[in-house]
Formats: sequence, C-alpha cells, structure tokens
Amino acid sequence: MNQAIPYGRQHITDDDIDAVADVLRGPFLTQGPHINAFETAFAEYIGCRYAVAVANGTAALHLCCMALGVTEGTRVITTPITFSASANCVRYCGGEVYFADIDPDTALLDVNAVRRLIEQHPKGYFAGIIPVDFAGYPVDLTAFRELADEYGLWLLEDSCHSPGGSFVDAQGLAHRCGDGSLAELAIFSFHPVKHIAAGEGGMITTNDEVLYKHLLRLRTHGITNKPGDFTEPYAGEPERGGWYMELQELGYNYRLTDMQAALGTSQLQRVDAMLDRRREIAKRYDDAFAGTNITTIVPPEGVNHAYHLYVIQVDDRKGLYDFLRTRNIMAQVHYIPVHLMPYYRQFGWKPGDLPNAEQYYARCLSLPMFPTLTDEEQTYVIASVLEFCR
Ligand SMILES: *Cc1c(COP(=O)(O)O)cnc(C)c1O
Repeated sequence: MNQAIPYGRQHITDDDIDAVADVLRGPFLTQGPHINAFETAFAEYIGCRYAVAVANGTAALHLCCMALGVTEGTRVITTPITFSASANCVRYCGGEVYFADIDPDTALLDVNAVRRLIEQHPKGYFAGIIPVDFAGYPVDLTAFRELADEYGLWLLEDSCHSPGGSFVDAQGLAHRCGDGSLAELAIFSFHPVKHIAAGEGGMITTNDEVLYKHLLRLRTHGITNKPGDFTEPYAGEPERGGWYMELQELGYNYRLTDMQAALGTSQLQRVDAMLDRRREIAKRYDDAFAGTNITTIVPPEGVNHAYHLYVIQVDDRKGLYDFLRTRNIMAQVHYIPVHLMPYYRQFGWKPGDLPNAEQYYARCLSLPMFPTLTDEEQTYVIASVLEFCR
C-alpha cells in the first residue's frame, strides 16, 4: 500500500460541502437555523427529548459538570481507559477525580469496582459517575443506574464513541447510547475521527427539562434573554426595554457555528449506513482473529457495538505497532490510562492502582476502523497483523 492507512478517517461528500457552502452564502454564520435543525435531528436519532449543540465534546463535558453542580471538592468516579477529557471536566470545576478499574472482558468501567470504591467511603462521599462507552461498546447503564440510585449519585454518560450503539436490558428493553433513559446527561463529539464529523463540535443529550434549560444558558455566557426567566427589577432601575438581557451566572461561549451544524446535519443522514459498514468491518476482523493468539472483544447478543475503534490485544504490542508502521498502517493506542498521566499522578495516582487497566494498556492496539476502509485495505491490514503475530 503506497497510501498510509490511518486508524480513523472522516468521509466528506459533495452534499456535505454544499451544505456548508449554503450557510456561507446565507445571513447566519453562527446561532442560525442550522443549530436548531441539528439539535432536533440528533435528538430524534438518539431517541432523547433534548439536545444542546456545543463547541466540542470537551465543552459538552464541562457544561454537564457545571449543570450537575460539580464544584470545589466534589468527588466524581470515572474510568482510566478513556480520553482524558472524561476526567478533566471534573477538574475544570474544581472537583476531584477518582478512577475505578475496568472489566477486562469489555475494557469498560467495572460497576463492581465502582461499588467497592463507593463502599470504602461514607455515604454522600461521591456525587456522580462518568461511565464511557469506550470504543463504542455500550456500557451497562442499568447496573450503574441501580448503584447510582442506591447512593444518590448522578450519571453522565460519555457517548463520544457510541452514537447508534445500544443494548437490551434484562426486561428486554432497548436503550440507545445517550438516549436519556438511564443517565441524567450524555455527551457526544463531532471531531473528525468520530462517527459524525463537523470539524469540531459536540452535543449534550438529556430528557431532563431543567438541566436542558440550564445548559442552554451556560452555553452562551450564562446570559438569558427570555423575559420569563428575568429577576425582579431592583429599586431605582431604569425601565427595561427590548434590549434587556441578564447575565445570571458565569457561563462560557461554547456555541457551535452554523457551518458546523450544517455539516453535522448532512453527515447525520448517512450515519446508519456508516455504522453498518463499521460493523461489517468489525465482523471481518473478529472472524480473521478468532482462534489466534490475538485477543478481541466480541460483544454478546443484545449489545450493539458502535465501533468507533476496533481494538485488539497482543503480547508484543510495541513490536506490532512498529511493524505495522513499516507497512504504512497507522495503528494507534487507546488509551494510556488517564490515572498514570503526569497530571493525575500529582494527585497520588500511581502504577499498580488499577491493574486491569494497566494490563489492558500494555497489550492494546487500535486497527484501522472507518467506513471508507476498502475490503482490499482491510485484507492487507489483516494479513500484516497475522504475519507478525504468527
Ligand atoms: C473525543 C472524545 C472526547 C472529547 O471530544 P472533543 O470534541 O475532541 O473535545 C471526550 N471523551 C471521549 C471518550 C472522546 O473520545
């Protein structure tokens, strides 16, 4: 292969380009009609009541932590096997991050490890949990909801990897990732490596009207211009006119542009076809590596993986990574455990704290996984991996 094969790649069609160009020719570059259209279409796709479009997935996490009341000293639990933003959002608000170990079978935050952590502390010690649908594997939110209800915690689902993913609960009820049926809030990213590319972009989904309205205000500085939300006039205040608005709390400018919303909406029309293709690619990898010394994570019946990533685990991960580079295959590692990052080690986290996550990290490698990966390219990737691993 002359052309390098990345682990992920966006797909932009002429329709996508036209959608963005139309916005550029129109009157609104930001906060125009495309924001609302994108939010409505996305909420419908995910199956939730409300969606709030924001600048990126990290901004979405930050605003969610604010809306959930994370502040100085608030303790929140998350997984070490995620992009660091899942933890950093707690720190933005002055909160403390606690990591619990992963389940080695799924590489997802282990609900039993979270329970053990909670039970080591007095009731009320923790405020919330941020489970992540890592790689696109939907985390079992029914188990997390039970635990959260028992201890009065909130759930913020990081669904950046899992738009279109779903699982069926013990009652036979299907839950789409981020649909608001089990977690208070969920977030998505539209970074180009994710399922839907908008350049940069993020979305918060929820079924909670109070959180929804609060998030809309936080997204735009903490300002409201809705008369019904205004405070009482103070003594001697000049009469309020049509210009009147209020800064009610400290928010941010985390708005999405209309160009990005138009691109996201256009991409959303193909999202099911792209997801089908991701699952087809995953199936082929699963079959190719079955019965070899390569470890794969194959979800059970009823778990519909969204395959943002396709991760294998091998003993000589560094060797395979380097070998694939010589073959122009740009495999990647997801993720270096967040608790071992120098920034988090300063809070006392150290090697050995989370053995499952650390063992996973020692062996994991993400193979190329994106809808436009051709059969020929995948054949070449599989042959290269098998050549090294045999
Ligand atoms: C991509 C990603 C984010 C952050 O999204 P951005 O849009 O890049 O800010 C957060 N969490 C996870 C799990 C991600 O993969």
